[in-house]
Amino acid sequence: MRRGADYIAGIRRDGRTILLDGEPIDDVTTHPGFAGPTRVVASLYDDAIGDAEIAYEDEGRSHSAMWLPPRSAEDLERRRMVHRHWAEGCFGLMGRTPDHVASIITAFAARRDVFDRAGTRYGDNVVSFYRQARDNDWFVSYAVTPPQVDRSKPAHLQPEPFLYPGVAEERDDGIVIRGAQMIATSAAISDYLFLSYIAPLQPGDEDYAISVVMPLSAEGLRLYPRRPYATIATSTFDYPLSARFDESDNLVVLRDVFVPWEHVFVHRDIGLVNRQFHETGAHVLANYQALIRFLVKLEFVSGLAIELADAHGLSAIPPVQAQLGGDIAAFCSALEAIVLAAQARPQTRNGLVLPAPSFVSAGVSLQRRWVVDLMRALRELGGGGFIAMPSADSYEAAETAEDVERYYRSATLSSRDRVQLLKLMWDLVGTEFAGRQLQYEMFYSAAQHIADLQVFKSFDWEKGRVHVRRSMRPT
Ligand SMILES: Cc1cc2nc3c(=O)[nH]c(=O)nc-3n(C[C@H](O)[C@H](O)[C@H](O)COP(=O)(O)OP(=O)(O)OC[C@H]3O[C@@H](n4cnc5c(N)ncnc54)[C@H](O)[C@@H]3O)c2cc1C
Repeated sequence: MRRGADYIAGIRRDGRTILLDGEPIDDVTTHPGFAGPTRVVASLYDDAIGDAEIAYEDEGRSHSAMWLPPRSAEDLERRRMVHRHWAEGCFGLMGRTPDHVASIITAFAARRDVFDRAGTRYGDNVVSFYRQARDNDWFVSYAVTPPQVDRSKPAHLQPEPFLYPGVAEERDDGIVIRGAQMIATSAAISDYLFLSYIAPLQPGDEDYAISVVMPLSAEGLRLYPRRPYATIATSTFDYPLSARFDESDNLVVLRDVFVPWEHVFVHRDIGLVNRQFHETGAHVLANYQALIRFLVKLEFVSGLAIELADAHGLSAIPPVQAQLGGDIAAFCSALEAIVLAAQARPQTRNGLVLPAPSFVSAGVSLQRRWVVDLMRALRELGGGGFIAMPSADSYEAAETAEDVERYYRSATLSSRDRVQLLKLMWDLVGTEFAGRQLQYEMFYSAAQHIADLQVFKSFDWEKGRVHVRRSMRPT
């Protein structure tokens, strides 16, 4: 398990190309737009060292449990704890912490047989990369969604041949990839990128049917991040979350990136690309991480809500209690129940013990609807308080300091404490960071229709059919 300092040293000036507003970033670890999340990740690497609850032993070495292939209920519990570790360090506000894609790579390696079907060298590549990633405790990000050029057409019928990433050249020592993927969250601060497709490819898409990994420093690989919110945050007091927990989202441009064969998991195999996430259980494990992370965020939200209700003298008013209970606590408890039930009813597939796929997919589908109501509930609670807030500077200015201290206080909190609480909430509800958070929760897995289709596929419809058949045979 590696130290935070080693993580930072690994991504600092390693030759990666990140172009923000057209300008190259020299050192992503110190750039104001990326230093915050880099620090968070580094400190969580440090905190994991020596914590036996979120580690496991293999081949005489201790590894983070994010690399643990779950083969028992105990393993699943250990994975839940490691996901909580990463989520608690950022209050669930960073979705693509290292444990997300580690879940995918781990499932791939545990089910190498799926990749072996195209030739054992592909299974070998998956396992070899998994071992390296695990032994070095790498932070792997991923880009599996192509640009929204024309969603009505498959990859090979887009207006240009390599808008979606595909194989531009095949060489003796590897393949050359050209094209772009729409979003890779956290890629700017990660070690490796996993590149493939999550939405099914169609017949004719052979050139695009790839799964590969590449270091962020690969020649020809460029990241175009959206503007980081920390760069527009005036202070940590005014933007407490934007300033620290913006994990960055990046367009990935591949200008003829060479990928050696050992980093190729799938090559020109449409069926395998389409099956890889579902048949290996990677999709379930990654979404399980996402639900656990989201639960931590909900716990944080519930804390903010009750603290604000207390501060404004609302928490003893029954209609407000009902609002807090129905709109926030119910959601929090229901999600916790889904997470725990998924773990309590695992499904074993080829030796891999997965949290109940039907519960996990139901959680993802419901969560992306409920989160919209959650945001409305917080707005109801905050009222005008979210808008009537002084800036950090107003506390320092002689002209305003006295009034600011007097008129922004509540019955129980000083002005600074009340305003800090409100700013935390507004950064979750109303700022640009907040808008991105909502979009993330709605789309991190898939659009609603795809998430719902997954529920359809994983649900046990037979149970209901049995009732119906019984009801048709009255005794
Ligand atoms: C903040 C954020 C972070 C992300 N991070 C990552 C990341 O790290 N890595 C990564 O690979 N991806 C990432 N994504 C991308 C994510 O995987 C996609 O947004 C998601 O898969 C949905 O695809 P899309 O955005 O292309 O939506 P589209 O497929 O373009 O769909 C958009 C909308 O069009 C409609 N629609 C489209 N097709 C249909 C259809 N067949 N039937 C009915 N309606 C339809 C629906 O209303 C749908 O909501 C991220 C997205 C966001 C917002």
